[in-house]
Amino acid sequence: LPRLILILGDQLTPDISALKGADPERDHVLMAEVQDEATYVRHHKKKLAFVLSAMRHFAGELRALGFKVLYVPLTDDHNTQSLPGEVRRHTAAGHYSDVVMTEAGEWRLRQAFSKLATDIPVPLEIRPDTRFLCSEEEFKDWAEGRKSLRMEYFYREMRRKTGLLMDDGQPIGGQWNFDSENRKPAKNDLFLPSPPSHTPDQITEDVISLVAETFADYPGQLTPFWFAVTRAQAEKAADYFITHALADFGAYQDAMLSGHRFLYHSVLSHYINIGLLDPLSVCWQVDRAYREGRVPLNSAEGFIRQIIGWREYVRGIYFLKMPDYASSNYLEAARALPDFYWSADTDMHCVRAAVTQTMEGAYAHHIQRLMVTGNFALIAGVDPGELHEWYLAVYADAYEWVEMPNTIGMSQFADGGLLGSKPYAASGNYINKMSDYCKSCRYSVSAKTGDDSCPFNSLYWDFMIRHRSRFAKNPRVSRVYTTWDRMKEDTRNAYTSTARAFLARLDAGKRL
Ligand code: FAD
Ligand code: SF4
Repeated sequence: LPRLILILGDQLTPDISALKGADPERDHVLMAEVQDEATYVRHHKKKLAFVLSAMRHFAGELRALGFKVLYVPLTDDHNTQSLPGEVRRHTAAGHYSDVVMTEAGEWRLRQAFSKLATDIPVPLEIRPDTRFLCSEEEFKDWAEGRKSLRMEYFYREMRRKTGLLMDDGQPIGGQWNFDSENRKPAKNDLFLPSPPSHTPDQITEDVISLVAETFADYPGQLTPFWFAVTRAQAEKAADYFITHALADFGAYQDAMLSGHRFLYHSVLSHYINIGLLDPLSVCWQVDRAYREGRVPLNSAEGFIRQIIGWREYVRGIYFLKMPDYASSNYLEAARALPDFYWSADTDMHCVRAAVTQTMEGAYAHHIQRLMVTGNFALIAGVDPGELHEWYLAVYADAYEWVEMPNTIGMSQFADGGLLGSKPYAASGNYINKMSDYCKSCRYSVSAKTGDDSCPFNSLYWDFMIRHRSRFAKNPRVSRVYTTWDRMKEDTRNAYTSTARAFLARLDAGKRL
């Protein structure tokens, strides 16, 4: 009997472990578009179209390799609309010897498949996802017995393990991390490359119509749709990044500019996470670009650190700490997510810019996510669970294993400092230094208090003071309290009352 090989929507690579040893002449591949996955959060329409189009193209890629692919479209009358349901349906008639799959990336699905394994008539073999450099076991071993799980130490192990940017066992350039060189604000007269845009083919057009009809009330703009949806297109996007943007990636990594949504970022995360690009191959291309003198070390190292450091590390944390991690709320933040996270209807220019481009393109770069939308939610005390659902819904690269630790841990400090050593809270001063947003904002970044002052200024202080008992002993934060204590009482009161007024406006649903 043939085997049934299940491929999930974010496992779109012929190298996926489920296909190892598969015989195209005998085995069948099952891929299914199901409502359960499309609706567990209200995904951005562009994200839905991207995943469905990439899945349909990947089915074509497998067929070209000789596989028989049983592809279940969303609108198929027999579709049970859940992944376990589809496996059950396809194994019921006894046509298969067993089912093989690569483990799912989300806890929720892992639970569902463990349960499924006990109630289908054939064995279900679940294989590790070998697209990651560090297995969950290896991460657990690394974490065990450590007082602090800082990314930097994990990252060094991954450098040693891969040999990326290493010479004779030593990091090239004599240090592991060049982040201190990566904080340049950008200027508008820089040459800013734009990632390649791909014209939708018939498959993508069909998917766009399907999403427009089926998910009409979901957030985000469906068109213009320009994402790569095949491996060849995604590889072109990676080449473009390495040739045109990587050299300046490092220096301007933390910069933000009005009207420039990508700067020197790669815009590759959604391709990597879905399986169209192999993360390690991209890193080796970057390593080569450095060794051939095409890009500086701070850029190559910065990029490689994001992939073999942060990306692998957050996945390790996710599986180490789930399921409890999802409900972490160390700071007991309970405010509802403001409506402007969906509508962009706010006078705060930085937030409006980040949300507008998110709703248009299902993309914002890291500093926008961390220091604008994340920072605002943190200092305003927004419920981290609600914020997590927002990030999971609106970004084309969002899957729980990578999004949740970034939101709950890095951005909201809701895990009490497991992931980050200090909260990423900042006043308007930081945003002003790293961007040109404040120049055209209704609020004044230099005004510290009062109705026209930048809301980040007073909310920052209100946040620090609200949590003084939690942060006072943190060596990376404690100096802030010395500054506060030195302020005149009137100044302190003005900060507090301004923050209260902004929060009251938020709670009353008034424009901010
Ligand atoms: P670049 O800036 O070009 O970085 C290169 C690559 O490094 C990215 O493509 C990505 O694969 C990887 N990377 C960079 N930073 C991180 C990080 N912190 N964690 C994991 N990988 C990283 N990334 C996601 O892939 N999915 C998410 O759902 C997601 N949610 C986030 C939520 C918040 C609140 C924050 C602060 C960050 C989140 N990130 C997420 C991390 C990061 O912001 C994105 O990976 C990055 O912005 C994607 O754009 P890029 O491809 O242009 O990245
Ligand atoms: Fe954002 Fe404040 Fe600057 Fe306005 S003044 S853009 S709200 S940081």
